[in-house]
Amino acid sequence: LNRRLAEFGTTIFAEMSALAVKTGAINLGQGFPDTDGPESVREAAVRALRDGRGNQYPPGPGVPELRTAIAEHQLARYALTYDPDREVLVTAGATEAIAASLLALVEPGDEVIALEPYYDSYAASIALAGGARVPVTLRPRGGRFRLDLDELRDAVTDRTRLILLNTPHNPTGTVLTRAELTEIAKLAVERDLLVVTDEVYEHLVFDDAEHIPLASFPGMRERTVTIGSAGKTFSFTGWKVGWVTATPELVGAVRSAKQFLTYVSSGPFQYAIAEALALPDSYFADFRADMLAKRDLLSEGLRAAGFDVYVPAGTYFVTTDITPLGESDGFAFCRSLPERAGVVAIPNAVFYDHRDAGAPFVRFAFCKRTSVLEEAVSRLKSLA
Ligand code: PMP
Ligand code: GLN
Repeated sequence: LNRRLAEFGTTIFAEMSALAVKTGAINLGQGFPDTDGPESVREAAVRALRDGRGNQYPPGPGVPELRTAIAEHQLARYALTYDPDREVLVTAGATEAIAASLLALVEPGDEVIALEPYYDSYAASIALAGGARVPVTLRPRGGRFRLDLDELRDAVTDRTRLILLNTPHNPTGTVLTRAELTEIAKLAVERDLLVVTDEVYEHLVFDDAEHIPLASFPGMRERTVTIGSAGKTFSFTGWKVGWVTATPELVGAVRSAKQFLTYVSSGPFQYAIAEALALPDSYFADFRADMLAKRDLLSEGLRAAGFDVYVPAGTYFVTTDITPLGESDGFAFCRSLPERAGVVAIPNAVFYDHRDAGAPFVRFAFCKRTSVLEEAVSRLKSLA
C-alpha cells in the first residue's frame, strides 16, 4: 500500500457494520436506510432493464434523461440554471464525485480546507490527489456544532486550492446558515478559491433550517462544484448514482478524472433516478416528515439514556456526547456498545485530525424503521 493511503486502513463504516453482523446488534452505525426507496422508482429500474436501456455503457457524462432531470431539479428548487449537456456529470455516487473532483482540481502539495469532523472519504480523496488537508474544527456551542469564520479565514494560505464543504453536515447534523454561507462565499471570492460542496443531504433539513446551495451566492456559481446523490434522497444507497453540477470547465475537469475511475456506472438505475427526481413535492415532504419523527424518537431516547444530544438540523444522524455517562473515549465506547446494549454506533473521533476534539462524540443513524429505533432506545436505557 502506498504511503498516501497507509494511514486510512478499513473504513469505520465497514468495521462497525461487520461488528453489528457478528454480534447481532442493531446497526445505527453506517448510514443506510432499512427500507428501500419508492416502489415506482424500483419499477422504473426494472422497466429500464427489461427495455434494454442502460444495459450497455451509458454515455460518459450520464444518460441525457438523468442530466436533464438534475438540471431541472436545481432550477426548480434553487433557481440555479445548468446546461444538462455541458454542466452536469453523473458519477458513481457522491463518493466518486468527491474523489474525481479532488483528483481533477488539486495539484500535489495544494492545501484543501475541510470542516472537521469530515466525512471519511474526504481525507482519503485529498490524500490520493496528493493534497494536504487543513481541518477547520466545528465546535459545539448552544446545542449546535458551529463553524468559527475567523478560524476558517485564518486557515487560508497562498497554497490553499479549495474548500471542501459539506452542508447539511455529516456527522454533526449542522446546516450552515445563510449568514455563514455568505461569509464563506465572500472569502472564496476574495481569495480566489474553488469550493467543492457536498450537498447529498439537501432534502433532509428540519424545523426552521433551510438548505441553501453555496452556488447560489454572489460570485460562487463559477467557482463551485456541487455534489448530490440519489442514495440519500431516494433511499437507494446501493445504486450508486451521484452527480456534479458546475461550469463547463469544472465539469470537464472532473470528467477527465472520472473517466479513468469508473468511466461510467449504474446504467439502468440512471433512468430510474431521472424519474425519481421528477416525483411530486409530496414525496420529498413525506420523506422529510418521516425522518423528522425518527430524529425526535431517537434524540429523546438517547437523552433518556443519559447522553447529551445535539439534535440535528439536517441529515439522518444524531451526534451525542457520552461524557454524562461517565465515558470519555468514543472508540472504546462504540467497541463495547454491542455487548453492553446491543447497539452499534460510530465514534466521531475517526472524522477528526484533532482526535481529542472528537473523543467524546458518538453518532447514531436514525434512517431505520420506527420499531427498530424503539427497540434500540429501549436497549440503550440500560446504560442510564
Ligand atoms: N458525502 C456524505 C456527507 C455522505 O454522508 C455520504 C454517504 N454516506 C457520501 C458523501 C457518499 O454518497 P454515495 O453513497 O452517493 O457515494
Ligand atoms: N455515508 C454513510 C455514513 O456516513 C456511509 C457510507 C459508506 O459506508 N461509505 O454513514
